[in-house]
Amino acid sequence: MKVRTRFAPSPTGFLHVGGVRTALFAWLVARQANGQFILRLEDTDRARHVRESEQHIMDSLRWLGLEWDEGPFRQSERLSIYHEWAEKLIEKGRAYADARSPAELEMLRNESRAAGRPFLARDHRPDNPPAWEPGVPLRFKSERKAYAWKDEVMGELSFGPEAIDDFIVVKSDSFPTYNFAHIIDDHLMGISHVMRSQEFLPSIPRFLNLYEALGIEKPALATLPFVLGQDGKKKLSKRDGAKDILDYKREGYLPEALVSFMASLGWNDGTEQEIFSREELVKKFSLGRVQRSGAKFDEQRLNWTDGHFIRQKPLEELYGLSEGFWPEQAAEAGEAYRKAVLGLVQERLKFLAELPDLSRFFFAEPAGGEVKELLANPIDKQLKKTDQAEVLGLLEAARTELGQSDFSEPDISAKLNGLLEKFNTKPGILFAALRIAVTGSPASPEIAATLRVLGKEKSLSRLDRAMSLLGQSA
Ligand code: GLU
Repeated sequence: MKVRTRFAPSPTGFLHVGGVRTALFAWLVARQANGQFILRLEDTDRARHVRESEQHIMDSLRWLGLEWDEGPFRQSERLSIYHEWAEKLIEKGRAYADARSPAELEMLRNESRAAGRPFLARDHRPDNPPAWEPGVPLRFKSERKAYAWKDEVMGELSFGPEAIDDFIVVKSDSFPTYNFAHIIDDHLMGISHVMRSQEFLPSIPRFLNLYEALGIEKPALATLPFVLGQDGKKKLSKRDGAKDILDYKREGYLPEALVSFMASLGWNDGTEQEIFSREELVKKFSLGRVQRSGAKFDEQRLNWTDGHFIRQKPLEELYGLSEGFWPEQAAEAGEAYRKAVLGLVQERLKFLAELPDLSRFFFAEPAGGEVKELLANPIDKQLKKTDQAEVLGLLEAARTELGQSDFSEPDISAKLNGLLEKFNTKPGILFAALRIAVTGSPASPEIAATLRVLGKEKSLSRLDRAMSLLGQSA
């Protein structure tokens, strides 16, 4: 069998992780079988259509490296095809024009409700439907039938006949509904595996009935469990703050990290492995290992994953990617200096938009108020318990020692370690105080490396300044 999969978004807005994960799984199934991945824009809901959305969808897929082999196809450009197939349905006696107004249908619905019965359109077929012509909705004539089938993810499924009803296939604006158009397109485009979100599951019995009516063989169906929001309860949605996938690009996440993270939303390879390269995913992915229950979107885990991929990046490459993310204070700094800074913060960076906060002190003197406050009222556990005069003494001693250093990293380390011994103090005290003095922050890369990159002149002048600030408050 030729494997052909598709991603069929409705261009009604931006893509978020939930939608793109569907695309990723479809892409993986195609790639691992040397098959094709097709992009189809399901733009038949004219009221919800957003023009820029198409470009946005394509930009998102390209950024993630989910290139499509065919398309984009647009359903709005294929109306005559759907009309032909609508005629076929009519010929087979499986569709009827439904000229009733929405108000009339609403009345029937209310009657059923009042009688405590579920409303089924098939119980209310018009007696003498007019011949179908464009402008009148066309409705599929369904059969009362139970279905059992195998879903590639959910396993054996079955529904009773109450799950099937007559439904509109062509609307009054001549556009087909999703329910109809996707069946025709999947057939004509030779789609072998349909992967889509759980929200379509209740509609599948209707689709099965339509396949039969049209004499179309159904493709393999794979129902993907929801991606759930942070609370683990509700489906991740734009309404509840799901982010545009391109926001992650803007914030300097790496596409390979998003791909690995999205694959792990509801899938694993049966081991503890949590991070996967694209190549590994193509090799290992299988629909059979997609879990059946919802997968929680956890931004912390995404950050952790991105941090992992950032640490793996060769410095040169990361430097190329960092353009546009530097703090404005870095504008004057040279390339070698920036690279040295990046090499230090790479360890702690979770995504590139964190670069300014993690690196600013390398380019600009930290605010005096901050340094003074952190030294006078430390938050570090050990520093907190240390007398201010003692801290001042340690800084003075460090100033003297570092003044005699050649500022190579081993020499800085040796001098600082010497001080630890001499004063019988701890890194949690001496290094913490030094860190605040030169960076204005309780956290920074390793202290000797930080001093080395900052350079002798700046390091010493910041130490002098910190001592005078602390002296004032003591
Ligand atoms: N247009 C549908 C959507 O955006 C596609 C569902 C499908 O993949 O069949 O959700």
